[in-house]
Amino acid sequence: MRTLVLSDLHSNGTALDAVLAAAKGRWDISVCLGDVVGYGPDPNYVVERLREMGTQTIRGNHDKAVTGLMITDDFNPVAKAAVDWSRAELKPENLAWLTNLPPGPLETDGIVLVHGALQDEDEYVFTPAQALDGLLDSTAKVTFFGHTHHQGGFAYQDSQLEVLQIHPRATESFAALRIEPPCRYLLNPGSIGQPRDGDSRAAFAIADLEHQVVEFWRVPYDVEAVQQRMRAAHLPEPLVQRLAVGR
Ligand code: ZN
Repeated sequence: MRTLVLSDLHSNGTALDAVLAAAKGRWDISVCLGDVVGYGPDPNYVVERLREMGTQTIRGNHDKAVTGLMITDDFNPVAKAAVDWSRAELKPENLAWLTNLPPGPLETDGIVLVHGALQDEDEYVFTPAQALDGLLDSTAKVTFFGHTHHQGGFAYQDSQLEVLQIHPRATESFAALRIEPPCRYLLNPGSIGQPRDGDSRAAFAIADLEHQVVEFWRVPYDVEAVQQRMRAAHLPEPLVQRLAVGR
């Protein structure tokens, strides 16, 4: 069973299409770690693609903000403007689908899905100390998280925690991580719609636990086409520009 792991799509339909084209024929089921919407110009399109694929999806903080399940007082003004725009843009049935997304942690086919941290879906996991609690508490050997928009993760074995630097080079599409049975893993597939780890390519992962391998992918997409749609929608300029640099 190969699982396509999607996260932080952020209403970027062009990036999602590039990901699905690259992943075609390489997966059996699909999961999504949340932040389906927010920031980007294509909220309905992205929701509808996930609905068509039957992707097992948990909610992210932007999904909660757009649907009114979370107040946006601690969102910065640029993120809040995109939340308000997305809410007005979404068709009622797509808004209803987002409203009904379950929170993480969610166990599905031997892996656990969380948006942020295992203990708090809105918390960021950047450091080994932040990762440790999740690694110890998860009910599965492999847990996937999102929220930071940084591809990579952590491995834990015999009280040793290792930061995994997994990142396909500019000339490569993917880098493979071999899953070692005694280890526990907390892995981030990276963001499809708004990468922030310095690589503007859309990020995702494919997990094949039967064969003990997780592939971390990067695919280029037409960033300028997305930027044009964002400007036409009058989405905030900082959100438009960051897509080109992946920060
Ligand atoms: Zn996000």
